[in-house]
Amino acid sequence: MVQGNKWRKLKYNLLEARLNGQHTILTFGGAYSNHIYAVAAAAKIFHFKAIGIIRGDETTVQSPTLQFAASQGMQLHYMDRETYRHKEDAANIESLRVQLGDFYYVPEGGTNIFALEGVAEIIPELNVSYDYLCTACGTGGNVGRFSKRFKRREEADWFSSLKGTDTLTGKVNELVQEYTGEQYSNFKVNFNYHFGGYARIKPELIDFIKQFKRDYDITLEPVYTGKMFYGLFDMIQKDVFAKGTRIVALHTGGLQGLSGYPAYFPELNYLTK
Ligand SMILES: *Cc1c(COP(=O)(O)O)cnc(C)c1O
Repeated sequence: MVQGNKWRKLKYNLLEARLNGQHTILTFGGAYSNHIYAVAAAAKIFHFKAIGIIRGDETTVQSPTLQFAASQGMQLHYMDRETYRHKEDAANIESLRVQLGDFYYVPEGGTNIFALEGVAEIIPELNVSYDYLCTACGTGGNVGRFSKRFKRREEADWFSSLKGTDTLTGKVNELVQEYTGEQYSNFKVNFNYHFGGYARIKPELIDFIKQFKRDYDITLEPVYTGKMFYGLFDMIQKDVFAKGTRIVALHTGGLQGLSGYPAYFPELNYLTK
């Protein structure tokens, strides 16, 4: 089964690839990437050949994520960190085409115009009314397309898993503009709960995830959903929202990554069981 927001971002990309007569999907990611996991699974189900360009070298830990990707038939290639920084340059993509043959290119994290369409389908599926919608935010794919679907009075808060940069807000605006031809100001990216940046953690985050499991029997992971719920609960406690505000918090998945964490966060080991 493919699930989580990474699948939503892939759906219309795979349709586009098929329309273009492409049989191979190439994408980028790290050793624990939810996106690599989703591409490998979806490519197998829909009979595409998948190539994953992984940051690091062969000595990069054989993470459970990469083992899963390989088991789905994804071809894994490693790219040194320096080259990886420029991976999206046209020259680099071109040299990959020469090396590996033609492919349909999906960016790291899966966020592009086609991703927005799939993510947007979440909105009509939410059959509860709300004033605020919250989701975890990496590249901004979630944010981008939601904005347009909102009725005017609805607002959204996005909890960034990346260290505070205004470029993310700008990038989302660009994406929305490109897609809809309009600007929306009904969302904001919250940079207060990134815990030091992507995949960085603090003991209070781990404690929160454990407490959340005890209180609600809902599993979070420390990269995306844990930070969002931590931030949301903190804001509620600090009375940031007016009394009676209806808040919907979207759990975007990502639990596959947990199986890679025990090595780093042995305390979360039991969540992967
Ligand atoms: C990638 C991811 C996000 C962030 O989505 P973006 O579209 O990159 O902002 C949130 N939650 C999970 C579980 C993810 O894997």
